[in-house]
Parts: sequence; C-alpha cells; structure tokens
Amino acid sequence: MNLEEILQLQQKKLLEYPLERRHKLDRLFVAFSIVAEGTYVYLCDMKYDISRWSKAAVDHFGLPGDYMYDAGDIWENFIHEEDREIYHAGIDDIFSGKSNGHDMQYRAQKRGGGYDVCTCRGAVLLDENDKPNYFAGVIRNHGYQNQMDSLTGLRNQYGFFDDLQSNLNRCQEMSVFITGISKFSEINEVYGYDFGNRVLQCFGRFLCEVVGNSGSVYRIDGTKFAVISNTAKIEFIRERYRAFRRHFRSDFQVDGRNILLELNAGYVFVNHFDVDTKTIFACLNFAYTESKTRRQGGLVEFYNDLNESNRSRIERLNAIRNSIMHGYQGFYLLYQPVVDAFSENLIGAEALLRWKNDKFNVVPPDQFIPFLESDPLFPELGEWILREALSAAKQILSHFPDFVMNVNLSYTQLERSDFCDVVVRAIQEADYPAEHLCLEVTERCRLLDMDLLKNVLASLKSHGIRIALDDFGTGFSSVGLVKDLPFDIIKIDRSFVQQIENDDMERELMRHFSGLASSFGAKVCVEGIETEGMRDILQKYHVQSFQGYYYAKPLTLEDFLNWKPQNK
Ligand code: C2E
Ligand code: CA
Ligand code: CA
Repeated sequence: MNLEEILQLQQKKLLEYPLERRHKLDRLFVAFSIVAEGTYVYLCDMKYDISRWSKAAVDHFGLPGDYMYDAGDIWENFIHEEDREIYHAGIDDIFSGKSNGHDMQYRAQKRGGGYDVCTCRGAVLLDENDKPNYFAGVIRNHGYQNQMDSLTGLRNQYGFFDDLQSNLNRCQEMSVFITGISKFSEINEVYGYDFGNRVLQCFGRFLCEVVGNSGSVYRIDGTKFAVISNTAKIEFIRERYRAFRRHFRSDFQVDGRNILLELNAGYVFVNHFDVDTKTIFACLNFAYTESKTRRQGGLVEFYNDLNESNRSRIERLNAIRNSIMHGYQGFYLLYQPVVDAFSENLIGAEALLRWKNDKFNVVPPDQFIPFLESDPLFPELGEWILREALSAAKQILSHFPDFVMNVNLSYTQLERSDFCDVVVRAIQEADYPAEHLCLEVTERCRLLDMDLLKNVLASLKSHGIRIALDDFGTGFSSVGLVKDLPFDIIKIDRSFVQQIENDDMERELMRHFSGLASSFGAKVCVEGIETEGMRDILQKYHVQSFQGYYYAKPLTLEDFLNWKPQNK
C-alpha cells in the first residue's frame, strides 16, 4: 500500500467505528491517562482494532494520529529492525488470545531519526464473555532525559519543558512564573559549597510550601526555579511573591544561620497555544532579566498586548524564532549612511536589522531583539547579520575606499567563548579588511563580567576591528565604561540632541560628552540628526561624524549604492 492508500484506509476505518464505542474508548483513555503520569498511554478497542494513543507519543514519534486503525502494525514500523521480531510475536500472541499481557523492551524511532529505548507494558481486558475487548498499555521512554533534580528533589528543566508542552497540546491556559537568587556565588564563597546546596534545598522546599497545590515547582537551572499553574493568576502570584521575597529578606534561616537572599522574578500568562515552549521560555527570561536589571527584583510580567490584527506578541516572537531556524527567512538588513561631520562625505553605514512576513508585516528590531537576546538561538542570528553586513560592505567599499561598516552586537553574543573566532572567520571568509568593520556595543554589556569583556574587546582590536559604544548617556554607567574600555567611537544617543536647537541644557551636555570622549581618545558620532539646524549647532562641538534622517533613513543596499549626500 502506498501512503495515500494507507491514509484512506485509516479514514475509512475511523468513519466506520461506532460512535458509542468511540465514547467509551475516550472515557477509558482519559481515566487511564490520569494514572499513567510520565508515560505514554495506548488503548486499543480490539473488536475494531481502533486505538487511541497519547498526544505526546504521537508528537514524539511522528505517528499518523491520536486515533489509529491497526496501530500494532503501524507501531511495528517504528521499531528497530533487530527488535521487530520479538515485538511482532508479542502482539500476535495478544490478538490471537494466546497471551493476555506483555512486558517488553525495544528501540523505537523518533521523529527526525534516532532511536529511544522504550519499555512497554500492556494487558488485555476481557468482555463479559471472556473475549478480548480492550488492550491497554503504557510505554515508558527511557530516551527521555531524567526529569529529577537530585539536589532539591524537584523536577528539572526537562520536566518543566515537558509540562509546558503538554499544557500547550491540551490548549490549557497557564501561568508560568520564574524566580531566582541574585549573587548566589557570594553564599558559596563565604559559607562553602555544601552550605550553598542546603540553601537551595531550603529555598526549593519553601517555594513548594508557598505554591501548595496551586501549581508545580521545578528547578530549572542553578539558582532559578519555576512554577507552572493552571489556576493562579497574576494578582495572586504578585501577592504571594511579595510575601515570599519578604521572607528571604528577613527571617530565612538555614542550619541556624540567618541568610539574606535577593530575588528576581518574571511571569508570563499563556493563552495562545500555537507557540513553542522555547518562545515561552524566552519571554519568561526577558521578564526575569528586566526584573533583575531594571526593577530591583520586583515581579515583571511579560504582557501579551493585542495589536490591531489581534495577534499576540508571543505568537509574533514565535514566528520570528522559527525564521531563525528556517534559514533566516524574513530577515534582512538596511543600511543607514554615516557622514563626516564637516565635509558631509559618506564615511560609513550602520547595518540595521528588520524582519518581515505576510502575517505580521515589518516588525522593528526593538520589538524583538531584546526578547531574543538571551535566547540560545541569538548568536546564530548575530553571525548571520555579521556575514550579511560584510558582504554588503564589500560591495560598498569598492565605491568608497574609506568606508566603515558598523554592526550592532547584543551583549549575549560577547559572552560566547567562540565569539572572536566567529568574527575573525567571517572577515576572512568575506575577504574583508578588518579595519573597515566597527562593532557597536551598548551599555548593557555591563551585565557581563568586566574581565571577560576587556579580553574580548582587546582581542577584536588586535585584529584591527574597531569598537563603538552605542547609545552613550542612556544608561547608568556610560562614563565608567568609557574609562575602563578602549572604545574607538562613542555614539551619542539621539535623545540628547532632539531639542538641541532650543535647549541650553542639551548643548551643555553635548559639550561635556564630546570633551569626555576625546579625552579618552575616542571619536564622537552623533545619531538622530534630523534638521539642518541641528547639524549647524552640532558642528560647533568636537564631533567627527553624523547619522540621521536629515541625511538618510536606513536604506536597502541598492538604494544605498545610489545614494548621494545632499549638495554633492
Ligand atoms: P541603534 O543601534 O541606536 O540604531 C539607531 C536607530 O535609530 C535605528 O532604529 C535608526 O533607524 C534610528 N534612527 C537613525 N536616525 C534617526 C533619526 O534621525 N531620527 C530618528 N527618530 N531615528 C533615527 P532601528 O533601525 O529601529 O533600530 C533600533 C535598535 O534596534 C537599534 O538602535 C539597535 O539597538 C537595535 N538593532 C538594530 N539592528 C540590530 C542588529 O543587527 N543587532 C542588534 N544586536 N541590535 C540591532
Ligand atoms: Ca547602533
Ligand atoms: Ca544608537
């Protein structure tokens, strides 16, 4: 039989299946699933040879559907060749009435290739005339990662992702909460590693007590814990978190010692189900990082605002994440000219990322980059951006020999141990001169370890690559950073020059910024030049380059190559 014939047969058999038997199958299946936690369940109506299987098994192995005709035969095709004979004999015995149960181990092929070791236990239920009626069983997949965290006895990240997925499969609304401890390494350093472990155990236990039966608790890594709840809503969680935090600030004791823990927390409510678990995790991590870096540990909710097309933010991020996994479909770069502050000749460009698809249209980068920054997929996208920008830069360079391409980095890219190698390889493969590349970092790089950051920047510079500090003045630590790190260029954020034509304060700030930058040997680029008036004023300060709508908006490569500065 070819695939089409198989599908037709399946459809025919399911249509012929009496409705009352189907209701009975469903009721039995639901009851059976409840007691079979952590395993796959199958239930076969032997009179019609129609089975229902757990959705998790259908997804994991890529079975044709939850309901299957002749599932024993279908499943046999998934079983490793070497194990098939034993399996076949076992099933034959059951259907012929020779045996009333089985208990076997075999390897089964999962979706996308590779085999998982499974143990399968099943029993035949007889009808009132002692004839085989149902065959019910569970399959335990040993290929699955162990889901227990041995330190706290809680379920770990695998369990967390599993439960997220099963809620999504069932279209079950859920609250997902994450909390973690700041500066935990200090506890390890001061009191020792064993004591640190005790703290984590007590923390986990206390979290379980607070959550009670309103949700499940997981330790998802190191000092981060999560809760999934199908009943609790944000107000409830906010209130509980407040009390929870207070406890760790005042009266938390471990082995008779008073310990003070600083916490952070993020929250997301999931009521759209066409997303994957990693997207939910990215949203949760974004909220958590916000809590840590901007809200002194207060609970941050990732809210799911509905835009005019009524599509959720999570769904949009999900689509963008999927694009990364599908050859960067929908991503492209625009190039905004950078000109010399005095001659106004073209001296460079900044590559700016865009994403677009039919459903969501063009999404500006600040609506997705901050959420994806801490996603394990981001460095891959970062490398694509770099390679794309270098290939454009090569074309531009042949027309403008002094041209420098600026590429934005996220601080999480710098954290990767292979980051410098990736950049150097990209330059070599593009056959592009390193001195004509400038990497822009923002003040968020403060979140990284300072020594690591110094090493990375020094290593990039040793290859001739230039480094710019972007959005200067918008964070808390601009001045400190300029003092500590060897920036070639300081880019002054446009929020400092928007009113410069009629605001004395902005002029005064501009004078300080440009003086400060040049005293550290860096050049100054001012962003957001929108008018001739702004340009005239800014030319009076010690600045070297300009960028802004007055010269050009971000352009496609084609438009860029045809672009000429005004009056030239
Ligand atoms: P940014 O690095 O500060 O980029 C400059 C932003 O200012 C760009 O917005 C640009 O279109 C806008 N802009 C330039 N001149 C003017 C002006 O005269 N007036 C006004 N109102 N705006 C002006 P865009 O393209 O929306 O990018 C926003 C941010 O997204 C960027 O800010 C950067 O932080 C981030 N981003 C963009 N591309 C990338 C990328 O490839 N990688 C990373 N990590 N971040 C990126
Ligand atoms: Ca930038
Ligand atoms: Ca900027």
